[in-house]
Amino acid sequence: MHALRWHAQGQLSLDEIPEPAAPGPGQAVVAVSCCGICGTDLHEYTHGPNLIRTAPHPLTGVTPPVTLGHEFSGTVTALGSPVPGVAVGTRVAVDPCLRCGECRWCTRGEYHICAKGGSLGLAADGAFASHVTVPAEGLVPIPDGVSDEMAALAEPLAVGLHAIRRADVHPGDHVLLLGAGPIGVAALLSAKLAGAAGIYVSEPVPGRARTAAEIGATEVYDPAVTDVRREVFLRTGRVGPDVVVEATGRPELVELAVRTVRRGGRVVLCGISGASASLPITQIVPFERTVAGSLGYNFDIPRVLDLIATARLDPSPLLTGIRPLSAGPDAFAELAADRGRHLKILLTPKER
Ligand SMILES: [Zn+2]
Ligand SMILES: [Zn+2]
Repeated sequence: MHALRWHAQGQLSLDEIPEPAAPGPGQAVVAVSCCGICGTDLHEYTHGPNLIRTAPHPLTGVTPPVTLGHEFSGTVTALGSPVPGVAVGTRVAVDPCLRCGECRWCTRGEYHICAKGGSLGLAADGAFASHVTVPAEGLVPIPDGVSDEMAALAEPLAVGLHAIRRADVHPGDHVLLLGAGPIGVAALLSAKLAGAAGIYVSEPVPGRARTAAEIGATEVYDPAVTDVRREVFLRTGRVGPDVVVEATGRPELVELAVRTVRRGGRVVLCGISGASASLPITQIVPFERTVAGSLGYNFDIPRVLDLIATARLDPSPLLTGIRPLSAGPDAFAELAADRGRHLKILLTPKER
């Protein structure tokens, strides 16, 4: 089969590799329907290796080249162990989190922060291919009426939902989102569902700002020309937002988030960066502000699928293109050249 594989920074190619072997106990094989290109994938391509390990991964032993792709849907073609509610032929989304199942965090149900954890498509071969081997515990049946395309968007949406759950957004809260890329947009949709009264977005890229406005942001600010902190302060009756979600990974925005959130408010960081942020302690302790990290998702993908199935959540604003897998290298190059034009491109190994 063809697989889109990461070899090294800037080196991505469609390689001919064998189809997955019969699944072992606890595994399943999925025929991929479609798989989204994530900012993480793009970052591995332009600046990697970041999450890809060049030494054998502690959980999987995998070293590059590795097939990318972790945001996907498909159909089960083989099961290594019985899975309740899943049979060969079941349409599934997949929680791509790889976990040891034994560490303190896994046994507490916090598999997403497993001591050895990783993700399909980074720590093991992923879904930019016709077939992928997955952990059976990650299989999530797709409800009837939810398309494979929308189901493939459940993974990035789950990142946004998890961030909003971490932020403990309550009905009537005011929320500031820094960044309206795929995760920012996912957080926006989730903040709406959580009942936020005001959702303010800071986003300099015009196309992304437009999308944020179209899907229900109360106000969208261009931080290059607007003092976002002051505007949101004024819009919230000189109080500040209850919650700030940082979805860009820019270290200077972490300090902005802390200075902007109201007294007693909550800052959730879901952007990631190797750089350090400066956090003024006098802005945290005397005001009892909380700063929390949010990583991926923790049983959030089934929630997202249920929200889509019940028409409470429409993921379509995220989707800006569907391409054949064979066009994958071009799609990566296009995204690397202009991150503003697309939110989510899906690649599909199926001929359409
Ligand atoms: Zn992703
Ligand atoms: Zn673990």
